[in-house]
Formats: sequence, structure tokens, C-alpha cells
Amino acid sequence: MGRKNILGMPVKSITQTILPGATIGVLGSGQLGRMFAIAARRMGYRVHTFSPESDTPTGHIADVEVTGSYDDLDAVRRFARAVSVVTFEFENVSAAAAAAAAECAPVRPGGDVLHITQHRLREKTFLARNGFPVTPFRPVNSLDDLSAGLAQFGCPAVLKTAGFGYDGKGQTRITAPEKAEAAFASAISGGNRELILEAFVDFECELSVVGARGLDGSFAHFGVIANTHRNHILDLSVSPAAIEPAVAREAAEITRSVLEALDVTGVLCVEFFLRRDGGLLINELAPRPHNSGHLTFDASMTSQFEQQLRAVCGLPLGSTELLRPAAMANLLGDLWDGGEPHWAAACAFPEVKLHLYGKLHPKPGRKMGHLTALAGSAEQAAAQVLAARAALIQNMR
Ligand code: AMP
Repeated sequence: MGRKNILGMPVKSITQTILPGATIGVLGSGQLGRMFAIAARRMGYRVHTFSPESDTPTGHIADVEVTGSYDDLDAVRRFARAVSVVTFEFENVSAAAAAAAAECAPVRPGGDVLHITQHRLREKTFLARNGFPVTPFRPVNSLDDLSAGLAQFGCPAVLKTAGFGYDGKGQTRITAPEKAEAAFASAISGGNRELILEAFVDFECELSVVGARGLDGSFAHFGVIANTHRNHILDLSVSPAAIEPAVAREAAEITRSVLEALDVTGVLCVEFFLRRDGGLLINELAPRPHNSGHLTFDASMTSQFEQQLRAVCGLPLGSTELLRPAAMANLLGDLWDGGEPHWAAACAFPEVKLHLYGKLHPKPGRKMGHLTALAGSAEQAAAQVLAARAALIQNMR
């Protein structure tokens, strides 16, 4: 009998190291895959990407861009047969697609990690059962469930779709019990009947830890990053976060335990709320490099993307040392409202790095690129990156 994952599906398990020259398959084709492909090609690997789109951010860098539906399991198998290992940059790939890939090549992290983390209810249930601190939550399948949840948590509370949510999509903050009916109707309007209600956390700040686990179980993390969101979308990340050392140690320890509990081979980001009483709550997991870790590309000895490559190839993990304090600001499509941003103005900041993802159509809220600033302190880096971003649109409006 071959190896099976926790869902009882057969998986291809190869433990030997995958060396430069080999081909890595990436499911998904966005900016995370693009930066992964840059790291992989730099180290002499070939990269194939698979997604329903063409002319993609990952495809621009990859050796081969395959366009196909994740539901076309034969296409997924063909893709996996041509590579030494499959990883992903997009977690909303179905369990069936991950299982089809796993028949033909190792999939790292495994399809069971995807299955748990792509669904808020499964993820929070897994975390709570394993003793991790999570935001209080309960499943909601009906208006009665929602009313009972609001009675339990009080208002405000946050109603979310259980599956396929990111960047605040499918989320409503309910501020009073009489608003429950409208919130429920809007939440299920997209056809999503599985919902989750969370207590609203009045947090001090939001933090994240990007961790990596090698094939041999070794662990490394990039320290604690402080994140600010705007309209539920990450706006600014700063490293290192200005928090008590004991909180930083606890966040790193929780991250290590989460990667172990899920038996991750690869990179996983844990997003936290830091409560006003100093306690940490896990908000969300992302089983891949994360937007808050983009600053590692310029500021760390090894980037989160190279670390993903090392982990999935069975290589030793690299040093995660932060070379200088850093800050990252996202560039959303809204910046294009007044025309093409003034790129030269941001490049006039000598310690700011410009990253653009090669997306042709800027739309409000769409992640088009980011800026990273390095400086003597995290505060200075944040000030620099925000000034550089402001310069992009100066004199345009
Ligand atoms: P999510 O997509 O669940 O990560 O949510 C996006 C953002 O919405 C988070 O980073 C928070 O800023 C905010 N948010 C989500 N859930 C909650 C909650 N239960 N309490 C307070 N803020 C929340």
C-alpha cells in the first residue's frame, strides 16, 4: 500500500533532494508564483505554472505556462507528470485537483493542508481542537444560527463565507441584531450557504509570522511583522514589529507548532490579532508565502520565496536573518485612477525597491505591485515607503 494523506487519498512520496536543473510545478499564476519563479530561476531550476489564465504574472517568468481548469483533473495530472514537485501559490485549488497532482508528483505542502486552510470553518476547528488560540467562532447555516451567534458574541460581530474568502471578500460586520437578516441575505447571495460568525476582536494591532518547515522537519521563521489593513486589504507591513519580546517569542512558537500540527513541508503564514491585554489570537493561516512577507525579498538573507523552494525541494532552509529593518507598502489598482503612477519619483528614494507584477489591467483593490524600503529603524522604513508611495501620485490629481 502506498502512502495516503489524512483524507485517505494516495500520494506520491519522494524524499530525495530535488536539485537545481529540476522542474518545479506551481499551481496558480499570480504575483506569489512570479516571485517564487524569480527565486527558483535564480537558483537554476525550471518552473512550470498552471492556472485558468494566460499571460500571467507567473507565466511571464516561468519556462512553461499551462492554461487549464483546476477541475480538468487529467490536465492537472499531465502537468504534475512533467515536474519533480508541485507546490502552489494559490490555496483555493480543489482537494480533487491536489489529489490528482499527488498521484503523479509530490505535492508540498500536501493537499490536506490546502483542504483545511482554504475553508475558514475547517481551519478554525482544526486550530481550536489542537489547542491553538483562535478568534471565537461558530458555524452559521441559517438565520437562527446567526441570531444565536450574535446573542453569544454580542455586536459587533463578523459574518464571513467559510470558503474561498480572502482580502475581506465575503465579509460583513454586523453592528446590531436587527441587521442580521440583511447581512445573512447578502452573505448567501453569492450561493455560499456555509458561513462562519466570529466575535469582533478589538485588537491592539495585527501581526504575522511567516514560517517554513523543511522535509526533515527543520523550522525557520522570519520574525514578527506588523501589518496595517485598509478596506480589509493589507496596506503596510513593517519588520521587525514593535512588540514585547515575550509576545514575539510566543507568536514564533505558535507558528512552529501550527506547521508541525499540519505537517507542512513548505512555507505557511500565521496571521494574528494582538489583543489589548497582550494575548494573541490566530485570525488566519495561509499555506504559502504571504503578502506580509514580501519585504523578505529585499531585506532578509533568504526570501520567503527561496525558502519555499528550499523546503519543497528538500534542501536545507536558508538563514532568515533580517539584514535591515524594512517596510512594505502595497500598490493597488486605485493608484492608477489619475493615470500611470510616476515611477521615477519612487525610484528617486535610493533605499526603496519597486516591484511590479506585470498585470495589465489596474482595478480598484487589485494588487499591482509593492514598494519595500530599508532603513536604520522600522519606523524610518515605514516613513520612507509611505513617502515613496505618495510621490507616485503627486502632481497627478
Ligand atoms: P480576513 O480576510 O479574515 O483575514 O480579514 C481581513 C481583515 O479584516 C483582517 O486582517 C482584519 O483587519 C479584519 N477582520 C477580520 N476578522 C475580524 C474579526 N473577527 N475582528 C476584527 N477584525 C477582523
